[in-house]
Amino acid sequence: MTQDAAPKLLVVADEPKNLHTISRILASHDLEIVFASSGEEALREVLQHNFFLILMDVQKPELNGLDTARLILGNKKTAHLPIIFVTATSKEEQLVMEGYDAGAVDYIYKPVNPFVLASKVSIFRDLHERSEALRRKNDELAQARKALKQSNEELSHIELHDSLTGLANRKNFAHSLSQAILRADRDRQKLAIFFLDLDNFKTVNDTLGHDAGDELLKTVASRLRDSVRKNDLVARFGGDEFAVLMENIRDNKDVAVIAEKMLALVGKNNPLRNRNLIVTPSIGIAVYPVASNDQDQLMEFADIAMYRAKKDGRNAYRFYSEELQSMELEFSEMSFDLRRAIDGDQLEVHYQPQIDTKSQQIIGFEALVRWNHPEKGLLSAKDFITVAEQSGLIREIGARVLEEACTQYQSWRHTQLITSNHVRMSVNVSALQIRSGNFVETIDEIFAKTGMQPDHLELEVTESTLIDDLDHFVRILNDLDNRGISIAMDDFGTGFASYRHLQHLPVHHLKIDRGFIARIQEDERDLEIVSSMITMAKALGLYVTAEGVELFEQAELLKDIDCDRMQGYFFARPDAPEVIERLLEDQQQHAQQD
Ligand SMILES: [Mg+2]
Repeated sequence: MTQDAAPKLLVVADEPKNLHTISRILASHDLEIVFASSGEEALREVLQHNFFLILMDVQKPELNGLDTARLILGNKKTAHLPIIFVTATSKEEQLVMEGYDAGAVDYIYKPVNPFVLASKVSIFRDLHERSEALRRKNDELAQARKALKQSNEELSHIELHDSLTGLANRKNFAHSLSQAILRADRDRQKLAIFFLDLDNFKTVNDTLGHDAGDELLKTVASRLRDSVRKNDLVARFGGDEFAVLMENIRDNKDVAVIAEKMLALVGKNNPLRNRNLIVTPSIGIAVYPVASNDQDQLMEFADIAMYRAKKDGRNAYRFYSEELQSMELEFSEMSFDLRRAIDGDQLEVHYQPQIDTKSQQIIGFEALVRWNHPEKGLLSAKDFITVAEQSGLIREIGARVLEEACTQYQSWRHTQLITSNHVRMSVNVSALQIRSGNFVETIDEIFAKTGMQPDHLELEVTESTLIDDLDHFVRILNDLDNRGISIAMDDFGTGFASYRHLQHLPVHHLKIDRGFIARIQEDERDLEIVSSMITMAKALGLYVTAEGVELFEQAELLKDIDCDRMQGYFFARPDAPEVIERLLEDQQQHAQQD
């Protein structure tokens, strides 16, 4: 009912003349009068309209006014309606009592006194209007309360959720974790927290822009939600950092299943900006109360486990354990020591000759870094390369080795120990160095500083370098190739570089991994593999070096299958410059004698 409509009065009477009388008396009252001539009709009307009063004539038995009143008051929807009986039988007390019993609030006696009728109707109309006004106020109040509650909920949602993905935020996660820990203690249950971040997310942001990055984060959020159980909490801490809380776990296997699912789902292809991106996660897991019974420490341990997953090659998950903690300590000690080693000149470069199969002369050297550790003695690259790469120190070490090797090469040329232009200095470079942004400039600076000619230098890259961002890698290799620098594919056969790849890369030289050479003298199949590698490399116009040649038989077999060069202990170990100088001098003396 709208506020402006005239209040409605129901007159229940069997005779039209009664209605006329009532209508006439109330004509000036701005009312809408509805007429019902039977009990059934009255019952229908009260359900359809909001009446402020019913005037009920109970005179005729067929109208059955008392029963109608009982039915109206018996219905929840109409029980509030005031009913005034219009009756001529005022003298019969029994009937009056029955009327009140049936729900009458008042009586008007016939013949109807207009003043009495008008004033009684006015009173009920006023009452109705006031109660309607009250009802409206109540409704408004209820609406206001509802709106307040909603905006409070929105506020606390904003305060506790990440606006980009709608996931819980860090504050929410911390609060939920503290509650979950209380439940776990009470129920003697375990819970697990996962910390997760995306490998190479920065590259997406840098190359495709922040909008694309945001889109990717939303996809990751929904994939994470799909990986976990319904009641597990998924949160985003900001950037590409996510966290998951899993309660009521039985053992690590339960947790591992979920972690595997996350790796599979999150690591799926992302069609984004017409490119197919694969962004993999690294996940660290800490289990309460196994790893720690302290909330802050638990979070710290999940973080440590995540970094371990990253260091172990990314796209992996790791559980926090004490062993992992001690590995972590060892790592930080080692990288601290390595930093000091760089500053304190504990790094040395050794050189291993490469031999030309036909002439048996030294045709080049591979520069290999050594760490002259004050306690552990002379360490070779494999003992500290992981720490160097993971700590980022590899860039500085790599640049130093490169400069040192060029300086050494130039010095051997000046002293005439190297006279042939075919003799090259080979230096290993890591993916991290190449990706560092100013790799080519660094090399140019080293050429300028040492006077080294680009065609006397060879850079050895491994197949694993190809994993990330092949396009970028190819651009840099082309820059190097254009300068006349030779590129060697190191440890060939251990990774996934195919011959098809090689066709598109400016690679000049294949170094067959020592693993293939180790058994060629025992296993014919190994010999066949090496032989076909050489055949294919030659078809692509590459020359080939066999690495790790340790035995006379191996050298002979490699000669038979036309391997261009060999490197290994059978010919010479990597050694300090002064040892290599003696080798070069010997070689020169032999040449003069011949
Ligand atoms: Mg190498």
